[in-house]
Amino acid sequence: MERVTQVLATTNEISLKGGNRAWFERTLTDNVRRALADLPGASVSRPAWRVLVSFAEPVDFAEVARRLHTVFGLGAIMAVEHAGFTLADLEASLVPRLETMTASTFAVRCLRSDKSYPMTSPEIEREVGTIVQRRTGWPVQLRDPELTIHVLVDENGLFTWTRRVAGPGGLPVGVGGRGACLLSGGIDSPVAAYMMMKRGMRLDFIHFHSVPRTDPASLEKVHDLVRVLNRYQGQARLVMVPLLAIQEQIAARCPAPLRVLLYRRFMLSLAERIARRFKARALVTGESLGQVASQTIENLAAVEAVASLPVLRPLIGLDKLEIIGLARSAGTFELSIQPHVDCCSFLLPDQPATKSHASELDAAEALLEVTELVDDALERTEVHRIADAAAWEEIPIPAGAGS
Ligand code: ATP
Ligand code: MG
Repeated sequence: MERVTQVLATTNEISLKGGNRAWFERTLTDNVRRALADLPGASVSRPAWRVLVSFAEPVDFAEVARRLHTVFGLGAIMAVEHAGFTLADLEASLVPRLETMTASTFAVRCLRSDKSYPMTSPEIEREVGTIVQRRTGWPVQLRDPELTIHVLVDENGLFTWTRRVAGPGGLPVGVGGRGACLLSGGIDSPVAAYMMMKRGMRLDFIHFHSVPRTDPASLEKVHDLVRVLNRYQGQARLVMVPLLAIQEQIAARCPAPLRVLLYRRFMLSLAERIARRFKARALVTGESLGQVASQTIENLAAVEAVASLPVLRPLIGLDKLEIIGLARSAGTFELSIQPHVDCCSFLLPDQPATKSHASELDAAEALLEVTELVDDALERTEVHRIADAAAWEEIPIPAGAGS
């Protein structure tokens, strides 16, 4: 377990965003503060293209990395030592740490963001390399060394680190607009949410249920999924929409092969009405091309015809195994695989249509009391504000951060 008092994280794509940069950086630092709120006295400063966190007492680096890995917009996470201002300070800080390390080869890499510092980066690399070699006898190897000692020179002096963990990438949640995610209790839709949050989108969640035909316990599972996703964005609305009356009328009046597609159409139009109330600009689903019969391109198009907001499907080109990998890193997988009965898993036809057309679904809907069904469902909709988040143990420690 490596204990640290300072952690430096680089920002990901923020430098590309010109005029919005200050806003992006402010959002990012706020998100970092939120993620570290439970660690002792984390103070967060924002020098140029990075974020520096100082803790009031030593903390486990793996725990810091776990938390920072939920902050989209961070590019890399390093445990750093502030090594004073001069090479002599640096030597004093580095030497005791060298004694705890072993390496068959090493290199020194310097990054100088304070251009007024009296030495250039290559000079610093050479000098520090000499110090290390004198103390340890390790041979220098510039290409692919076992140990890389990094030195950063900025207005606050010299910082060193030897371990770097990849950050989550993406953009800070809050800079990508607002969306509404159709969240089932399955594996895919929480991953779709994760991917849109990763691009900076703030999400509310909409869940359709068939209570009392399905167990109300399945609603608790959806709450729990939102709590995990809240680790990435703080808080969210969770809207619970009753679908049972709609499903029963569809099952009674419409051709069986179209049932699931008609359920989906109602989901999209209800979600759109709810999303507009929250000023969301897009709907998000966990669909992946060809994964099931309702997700052929013909069926996706026929269902989507009722929506006027863009329907974002970040998983459209992913295989199930790739989605599962993402679910594991998001921390949603274990919850998703707990058994539950989804609203679409009963009243199911034996042979669902694989190639429908919007006009065919329009004709089927003409057999239904659409306005009444929609109004009734909206009236019985419940909006929950989920302000708390899952325990940190549910979020995995990123690869390389150890524990
Ligand atoms: P998931 O793992 O998300 O359940 P899936 O492969 O089971 O995905 P489907 O059941 O076909 O896929 O659903 C496709 C998408 O439709 C889901 O990813 C989700 O966005 C939305 N959806 C399905 N059922 C519900 C539901 N009960 N409430 C909200 N959205 C749903
Ligand atoms: Mg599902």
